Amino acid sequence: MKNRGGVLIANRGEIAIRIARTCKALGFSTVGLYSDADRWAEHPWHCDQSVWIGGAAPKDSYLNVEKVIAAARKTGAKYVHPGYGFLSERAHFVEACEKAGLIFVGPSADSMRVMGDKIRARETISALKVPGVPGSKGAVKDGTEAARVAKEIGYPVLLKAAAGGGGKGMRRVDAESEIASAFEGASREALGAFGDGSMYVEKFILQPHHVEIQVFGDGKGGAIHLGERECSIQRRHQKVWEESPSPILEKHPKTREKMSEAAVRVACHVKYAGAGTFEFIVDGQGNFYFLEMNTRLQVEHPVTEWVTGVDLVAWQLLLACGEMKLPAVPERRGSAIEVRLYAEDPKTFLPAPGPIGRIAFPSGPFVRVDTAFTGPGEVSLHYDPMIAKVSVWGQTRDAAVDRLRVALDEVRVESPRDEQGFRKGSLRTNLSFLQKLVRNEVVRGGDTTTDLIANHPDLTRDDPTPPSREMALVAALVQTIDKAHLNGSSVAVAPNSVSGWAARARQEGITRT
Ligand code: ADP
Repeated sequence: MKNRGGVLIANRGEIAIRIARTCKALGFSTVGLYSDADRWAEHPWHCDQSVWIGGAAPKDSYLNVEKVIAAARKTGAKYVHPGYGFLSERAHFVEACEKAGLIFVGPSADSMRVMGDKIRARETISALKVPGVPGSKGAVKDGTEAARVAKEIGYPVLLKAAAGGGGKGMRRVDAESEIASAFEGASREALGAFGDGSMYVEKFILQPHHVEIQVFGDGKGGAIHLGERECSIQRRHQKVWEESPSPILEKHPKTREKMSEAAVRVACHVKYAGAGTFEFIVDGQGNFYFLEMNTRLQVEHPVTEWVTGVDLVAWQLLLACGEMKLPAVPERRGSAIEVRLYAEDPKTFLPAPGPIGRIAFPSGPFVRVDTAFTGPGEVSLHYDPMIAKVSVWGQTRDAAVDRLRVALDEVRVESPRDEQGFRKGSLRTNLSFLQKLVRNEVVRGGDTTTDLIANHPDLTRDDPTPPSREMALVAALVQTIDKAHLNGSSVAVAPNSVSGWAARARQEGITRT
């Protein structure tokens, strides 16, 4: 097989593994990276060689440009694939790669700057007559200016961080009286998360659908689209279920045409190279508004791979090594859905990382699992708590939903146990939530908007967790006290607090009485 040279994969977890697999299939050798927290992680197993790059905190390892470049040089890698997150959208990293004589697998630093910055991207698309969400021209300096813009465009509005990502630094505001404090809170959150507190204002689109167009550019002014993904099912403004085709665009095919055409037009204009995604908000009538562009591979790219049959990472790599000619728009077939399994509380959606004792995933026809866990391991508190992406394909959407229901019922994730069989660690997962989601009537009907989870409290009703060692001890104590009562002896514990603990022990499913 042809040896195409070495690819340094500047990432970790499932995406590092996914990239390594395609590299190997195409004859690229692979270099992985790992931090202190990833000494026992699985992604280095999938690479021909791996380099330790520092401490657990991302800034000491995966986000450290000098260390990543040094690892590429040391191993003689020719290419750098950034995956998603970490350094994937940092223009200065692209430049550092170029300076070191490495080929960055992705767009140029220039097109990343123009489209990666939310405010600049809004200016670019509006010059190209692509509709953006009505709102402030650029950043607003304080709550008073935000209130002035909000009055012009009308409430509700959304305050958004210019440097935003992952739904952070975002607040919906329904009335003028709330805007000053919302501005302060969101700006503070953005400053903490991104080191930049600049905010802008957008009209909040009611009954919103999140629909995005996957594009692929040749870097010379040519680009094609690979259809859409609908990602309307979100918690905390973050995607948890993604699918293609989009149910709302199935009702508005003209909107699909216009959105795809707009995305390709902008990609050509900025001479975009490689895989990129244009995110839009679509309202119930099929009006669409540009939100932002992600200048990288998306987490949810398997959905597009299912319906097009294209290996997007292969296209990225072949373009980087000069062997890719832009093909015609691929035909799309059937329906694909992906859900994200997270280590998080299924009620609050807050991260709940911890050790994994046992794990099992579904297989079978048209089921794909992207994960970095195949046995006992640890979801690290230092990184994104995603455990796996489970995706399926069906000839129709209903078939895909049914297949996903069965697949999710085969997923098992368990904490390790101590000698007495009690679970160790604080791992929780959103599996029970996903299982309810796939059975929800509205989800099945496909009429999903971004407020679905808020409108269905049954989806986030908690499930009993297996008892922890601490709660089991409380149960034993309660049992002893009960016995003491029966024997007529006195106990020096306030009865109210005991009955409270007993109720909690019962709630946790403890039956040892
Ligand atoms: P981030 O970069 O933080 O992910 P986005 O701009 O992509 O931020 O928005 C994240 C999500 O927030 C969207 O998918 C959508 O659900 C919601 N959202 C963003 N802008 C609007 C808007 N103007 N109106 C309604 N919902 C919005």
